[in-house]
Amino acid sequence: MLTNLSSICLYRPLRTALFFSTHNLLSSPISSNTSLHIWSCSSSSSTQVQIAPANVEQSIGVPKVDVLKQKLELLGIICDSSCVPGHYSNLLCPKCNGGRSLERSLSLYIVQKGDLARWRCFRTDCNWADKVFLEGKAGHNEVKKKEFQPFRQMTEEGLRLVPIGEKVTAYFNERKISEETLRRNAVMQLSNDVQRSKEDVIAFTYRHKGLIVGCKYRTLEKRFWTERGSEKILYGIDDINDAAEIIIVEGEIDKLSMEEAGFCNCVSAPGGGAGKNSPTLPSMEKDTTFQYLWNCKQKLDKVSRIILATDNDATGQALARALARRLGTNRCWQVSWPKKDEFSCFKDANEVLKYMGPDALRKVIESVEPYQLCISETETK
Ligand SMILES: [Zn+2]
Repeated sequence: MLTNLSSICLYRPLRTALFFSTHNLLSSPISSNTSLHIWSCSSSSSTQVQIAPANVEQSIGVPKVDVLKQKLELLGIICDSSCVPGHYSNLLCPKCNGGRSLERSLSLYIVQKGDLARWRCFRTDCNWADKVFLEGKAGHNEVKKKEFQPFRQMTEEGLRLVPIGEKVTAYFNERKISEETLRRNAVMQLSNDVQRSKEDVIAFTYRHKGLIVGCKYRTLEKRFWTERGSEKILYGIDDINDAAEIIIVEGEIDKLSMEEAGFCNCVSAPGGGAGKNSPTLPSMEKDTTFQYLWNCKQKLDKVSRIILATDNDATGQALARALARRLGTNRCWQVSWPKKDEFSCFKDANEVLKYMGPDALRKVIESVEPYQLCISETETK
């Protein structure tokens, strides 16, 4: 329902208080002391457990979580020191062994009480998700398991990718993207002899550790599709290795635009929109729209400052909000896109680059402000 009430913006101190209970899935817990305290209570009560779990002998005095870890080990999931109750850990998946890049793709969560562990492998080809209980109950599938298929090594030759031709180069030149930037980001095009339409198709190669793990195609008429079996990751993930500050944009061309303005520490959300804006975030297992964030969790965890430079429209703002809630609003910053004319603002990084130039785009990034989570009347109904 539309109302004429303006948005209520919650500024930092108030916001911290109000959103204390919201679990920012990718950010550190607000107080590690609190969780340690809770854990030490439930740990001592574990000596009271009388029923031995199936397949694992439980001796008096062994903390619940250790018994749970033994059960996980029987399933091939080897825990490490990061596996503590109330935290997510990235482990090696015993079903797919992390694919070609040996990714620690299995995200494991042990509940605070230490009597249940849930996990999900975020490799698209695998997608193994299940849970195990401390006591007798057998784990059951939460997600329909896919028949595991060995991954296909994506290569430029296999995907029939060729260097970009004149027409595609001209298309990018018009958008002020240089050939040097296109080369560094390995932007290619689909070979014309694999297509019936003979249309020029841009291929944005998604690479991880230099290897092609996915590919997104775009015709010059703005038709998009993704190569089957592509991994869900951020575009440009290799550019944020050890970056303390990153920029997240909403399209591959915006990522290339940021590079023209001097910012290589930029990644692009691969698409999929913002999902539902529910009061509480979905559990990791159900957060399918944002699988790409989970898959890049290890790198994102190290970042202290995240600039959200999504599109200046309702979808873009919803995406920024969804990202901020997952990444933790306290490390997120927002851009204000400059005015285009009396009535409107520029839509994205590429528009600013194209019409105002790289210096103007640099200024946009240099004048970001702390992200403010806005709750408008329309969203809370
Ligand atoms: Zn797996």
